[in-house]
Amino acid sequence: MSTVYDQEDPVIVRFWGVRGSIPTPGPLTAAYGGNTSCVELRMGGEIIVLDAGTGIRLLGAALAEEFASSEVLVSLLVSHTHWDHIQGLPFFGPAYRSQNRVRIYGYQEENCRLEQILTDQMESPHFPIPMHKMVADISVTEFSSKAFMLGEVSVCTQRLNHPGGATGYRLSWNGLVVVYLPDNEPVSYLELKSSPSVSAEPDLDPNQELIDFVRGADVAIMDGQYDAGEYPSHIGWGHGCVDDVVRIAVAGGVKQLFLFHHDPCHDDAWVEARTAKAAGLAKSLGSGLRVCAAREGEALALGSVLGESSQGAESA
Ligand SMILES: [Zn+2]
Ligand SMILES: [Zn+2]
Repeated sequence: MSTVYDQEDPVIVRFWGVRGSIPTPGPLTAAYGGNTSCVELRMGGEIIVLDAGTGIRLLGAALAEEFASSEVLVSLLVSHTHWDHIQGLPFFGPAYRSQNRVRIYGYQEENCRLEQILTDQMESPHFPIPMHKMVADISVTEFSSKAFMLGEVSVCTQRLNHPGGATGYRLSWNGLVVVYLPDNEPVSYLELKSSPSVSAEPDLDPNQELIDFVRGADVAIMDGQYDAGEYPSHIGWGHGCVDDVVRIAVAGGVKQLFLFHHDPCHDDAWVEARTAKAAGLAKSLGSGLRVCAAREGEALALGSVLGESSQGAESA
């Protein structure tokens, strides 16, 4: 196999879709972007795609250009099959070229076959081109283990608190760690404090499992859909309150947090203000955590090759 990307190249995180729930094109969301979840990670010689929201269409176009004269192997890790995480797959150009390979992975859910769901969304009357017309070498693997390898990249998984279930990923290679927790509702510290009916061990952090999962990550991409004012009316919707997400990232010693899965109702000004508040919270906790809003089209390079986290995605 010949590819243009190999292990010598830097680890790159690139955002192709950062919006939650539904695409939001238009002038009010132009700065952070309106495409739904899709993140490209180049790590250890692997091209890994996190979710196939509508952002994957543009990623496909970029890969087609980069690999115009050679084949490409892409590993797609699906967090769950809500529309905003799979809807772009039928528009993923590299899947329509026979020399390419697309490896699709998702957690083995009860009564829910990943391959069937991906096939069904391309059946008439939903879509005119059935999945078998994707002539690339495509495989769909449902895993049940907590960890597996993609080449030399170590992948750990974490079940998330989201209606119908979802999976988060922790990807490590050569001492660099990127964590992706797209749709997740942590236990709310605020609710815990204000609700005497919710009991908790005083010394036990109710989000300890999440804290351990993100521990020491160079980059954590986390669902921070609601602010503390909105969250109480969205309890149980399966998305994070930004204050909780910041506290978890701080407790886990994350270096850089990207707030992700922006609410369709939130325009650029809201996202910017929310991110500044989140950065202020991190600071007030005495942490050096960098807090950014994920922004469509932006990329950052990790590791020694291009310097530590050289990128321009930090939000004002
Ligand atoms: Zn979602
Ligand atoms: Zn979802």
